[in-house]
Order: sequence, then C-alpha cells, then structure tokens
Amino acid sequence: MRYWDPITSSIDWCEANYEVSEYIVEFWNTVTSFALVVVGVYGLWVLRSFESRFVENLIAFFFIVVGVGSAAFHATLKYEYQLWDEIPMFWVISGAIYAYMVLFDYWWEKRIYLQWFFIIYNIVWYFVHSSNAFTVFFQANFFVLNTVMIVLMFYFHQKYKTKSSTMMISLYIFAILSAFSLWLVDKLMCEHVSQLPVNPQFHGWWHVLVASSAHYSLMFELVIRHTIQQNRMLEIAGGLLKYPINNSEDLHSQ
Ligand SMILES: [Zn+2]
Repeated sequence: MRYWDPITSSIDWCEANYEVSEYIVEFWNTVTSFALVVVGVYGLWVLRSFESRFVENLIAFFFIVVGVGSAAFHATLKYEYQLWDEIPMFWVISGAIYAYMVLFDYWWEKRIYLQWFFIIYNIVWYFVHSSNAFTVFFQANFFVLNTVMIVLMFYFHQKYKTKSSTMMISLYIFAILSAFSLWLVDKLMCEHVSQLPVNPQFHGWWHVLVASSAHYSLMFELVIRHTIQQNRMLEIAGGLLKYPINNSEDLHSQ
C-alpha cells in the first residue's frame, strides 16, 4: 500500500510512480506543473504596466489555478485533483476566446451575452466532465476550443501584424507544437520511453512548454489589443519569457 493508494484518476502517466518520493506519486510531473504558476504570476506582473482588461488578469490567474491543480493531480493521481487540473483549462481557453471576440466592435457591444455564454458553457461542462471521466470527450472539447482560439489569433495577426506580434505568435506556435509532440510521444510511446536508461519525462516538458505557450499567447493578445485600441506598436523586452513594454511608437507617425 503506497501513500496515495488507491489511484482514482482516469490516467496514469508515463513517469514511474513513487520513484523519487514516497509522498509524491509523480515527482517530476508535479514539480514541472509549477511552470504554469510561474507564468501566471509573471503575467499578472506584466499586466500591471498596462491598462489591462479584467479578463486578461483573470486568464493569468487561471494559469495559476491550472498549475496548482496539475501539481495536486500528479502528486496524488486522485480523480478530484484531476478535475482541478482539467476543468480550469477550459476557463483559460474560454477567457482567451472571449478576450479575442470582444476585440470585434460588434461583440464588445454585446459582451454581456458572451460573458453569460462562457459562464453557462463552463458550468454545464463542469457537470458533464465531473460526472464521468470522459477522457476522449475532454480531449476533443479541448482540441475544438484550442482551434477556435488559434483561428482567432491568426485572424488578428494577419490584420494587425507588427514586429512584436509576429515574435509572440511565432514563439507561441513553436512552444505549443513542441508541447503537443512531447505529450503524444509520452502517451503513445511510453513502453519505449520507459526502457531508456533515464526516462526523459516528456510529460514534464509538456508542462514547461505549454506554460510558455500560455504566456506567449497572453502577451500576443496584449500586443494585438494595444495595436487595435490605442494604435500603438508595443516593443518587446525580457529574456526567455519575453513581454511587451510600453515605450512604444505610435502607428500614426510611421
Ligand atoms: Zn500534466
């Protein structure tokens, strides 16, 4: 009998259980989950230098919720914590889709309807998802919402392209594609992966890369919104997790 037995989550990942600590089922998957907490806190810090919208702060806050949920899930492999990992992911993507939709004047006027739509959608989804572990349904829903978000990102990118937005969306695409590739390898080729002398912990790398993609997508939205609303071209600063800064040029004077 191990510390968190019995395992009740619908998925047990490729990392060997209790390999590092007898109190943490998947140590590396737990530690790397905090990458999302880091980008959430970092995002809130970046947003402080802008007239940020409530929804942008909410998205950054939801990064933190997903990160904590994910850490609790991987540490215990309990179904209730699996829900804390999976359900807030939909809050993040709903928030992102909402943030892009309200960049259309038409939807800005009608934003109250969008707000209600996403609130009801997430409540319904919460009951559907928590009543049963529909893993495939969860992944399909996640895929559809992500696709909607990416289509919106590309739409705004081709319409309001600046040097900064190009950099942010390129980093986003690079991070999300690498993240999904590693997630798939970990999930489909675990048999081979675990025979390597050292398990490369691809699911852990998925956490780090998906956290980076979350960060870049939020920064991309910030850059695009400033281009549209204030006609300003934000510059990009920072190291690995680049972020926009405010000493930007006015697009009129170009
Ligand atoms: Zn995970």
